[in-house]
Amino acid sequence: MAQTLTAPKVKVDRKWQLWIDGKFVPGASERTLINPATGQPLTKVAEASKKQVEEAIKAARKAFDHGPWPRMTALERAGYLNKIADAIDANAEELAELETLNGGKPLREAKYDIADTAYCFRYYAGLINKPTGQTVDVPAPSVTTIVREPIGVCGQIIPWNYPLLMAAWKLAPALAAGNTCVLKPSEYTPLTAVRLAEIMAEVELPNGVVNIVLGDGPTVGQPLAESTLVDKIAFTGSVKTGKIIAAAALTNLKKVTLELGGKSPMVVFSDFDVDVAVDYALFAIYCNSGQVCSAGSRMIVEESIYDSFVKKMAERAKKIRVGPGLEEETEMGPLVNEVQMKRVMEYIEIGQKEGAKLITGGDKPKGDKYGAGYYVNPTIFADVKSDMRIVQEEIFGPVVVVQKFKTQEEAVELANDSAYGLAGAVFTNDITRAHTVVKQLRAGITWVNAYHNTYTECPWGGYKQSGWGRELGTFGLEAYTEVKQININLDPQAVGWFEA
Ligand code: NAD
Repeated sequence: MAQTLTAPKVKVDRKWQLWIDGKFVPGASERTLINPATGQPLTKVAEASKKQVEEAIKAARKAFDHGPWPRMTALERAGYLNKIADAIDANAEELAELETLNGGKPLREAKYDIADTAYCFRYYAGLINKPTGQTVDVPAPSVTTIVREPIGVCGQIIPWNYPLLMAAWKLAPALAAGNTCVLKPSEYTPLTAVRLAEIMAEVELPNGVVNIVLGDGPTVGQPLAESTLVDKIAFTGSVKTGKIIAAAALTNLKKVTLELGGKSPMVVFSDFDVDVAVDYALFAIYCNSGQVCSAGSRMIVEESIYDSFVKKMAERAKKIRVGPGLEEETEMGPLVNEVQMKRVMEYIEIGQKEGAKLITGGDKPKGDKYGAGYYVNPTIFADVKSDMRIVQEEIFGPVVVVQKFKTQEEAVELANDSAYGLAGAVFTNDITRAHTVVKQLRAGITWVNAYHNTYTECPWGGYKQSGWGRELGTFGLEAYTEVKQININLDPQAVGWFEA
């Protein structure tokens, strides 16, 4: 393994500003970002005051109420989205490297994220000019059509685990539908959002259609969720913050969509090839260092293969190459920041105190290359009980628990024993069992003999406390529209309801 850190090609020592009403402006304060691979300062970014958030909201309001964006044809809006997608592709290498420097993920993962980001803009550009709406055969002489219209000003608050991709999941459908937006990236990973603003400026998106405000939740996110000038708030993040946002949105009963956390099960039956199941299990939990809302963080494995599954998974987990995201051979990067690393280490301690058996990991990798970076080794807990905190709570790191079941009913019961309901998977070669179990999973995203496949075309979101509503696909577009019925009387006559 290389002992020196690969030098970044991208220049981060530059201005990272807010984008309000088509202008790049300095913030009211500054934040120093830390490179999670080294624990050293990366660059400084501007952060907004509440007043600047209000200015951004007013700019989006003006662009919606009086600007060209909602009034132009869907085809014209699609043209802008396609240009944004092209520019993302043209700058893919730089954007991927920025994502790795800022959030820590291995470059190979960041490259997928950037390609998916461009595709998301292209997908909604294509979807928006397809036939929509309904006509209804109401009694003559009326005719009725049902149309979808943009909601208005959308506040969009996103987390740090997929910075640019989450921005696309929010902006692309909102813009396609004709809304205007104020986007708040995570205070930890704002760099690619600023680059996206620069791309949107380059393609000459009309002023105020998208505004990007940087800063923390209470200063920048909260006023966005509370503002009575905002018509919809779309949030991705933790359950705890999701509840704060939902409460803040009550000021004007704005529309709310929430994409929240998960503690997703992966059920493995003994008829399935154990080695292949283990391979999927590693991908399910350790991809992006476990910082994935849909991570397979609970393995639920049939008793007869349990011991061999745990043994084989541990053998493979130990071999995962942990390191800086820019190193070519790295398979798993650091966690995003010190807070997250400490949180994960705390859960590992909790698990041990609760009496779970630590099979592998539980510590930080040692060696010069890790510097003061935020690394945690792939960790496995076995012999866990359902009521343990490490089984019930989202850890959001490279920590998995492995549970044991005897019967199909028990497997389903364990899988659904969670306050969350984001994702779930079942591994079996028995087609009847696959259908039966996957139907019984109380989750919004499910897989049979697969994990993590995510399609822009398919709805993303959760049951139970994993959220409200869906993103992506046609569902994601609908979530950025209001539904209007238009009734037209073709033969107006006096109603005569009142005699005099
Ligand atoms: P978080 O809830 O701490 O923060 C998310 C965003 O909310 C950030 O931009 C943050 O600044 C902002 N925020 C914090 N407090 C706020 C407040 N009072 N008002 C308004 N905004 C506020 O979450 P995180 O740590 O950034 O991300 C991890 C969480 O996100 C995990 O729970 C994960 O499961 C979830 N997540 C869900 C999905 C999904 O699609 N369901 C995708 C990615 C991440």
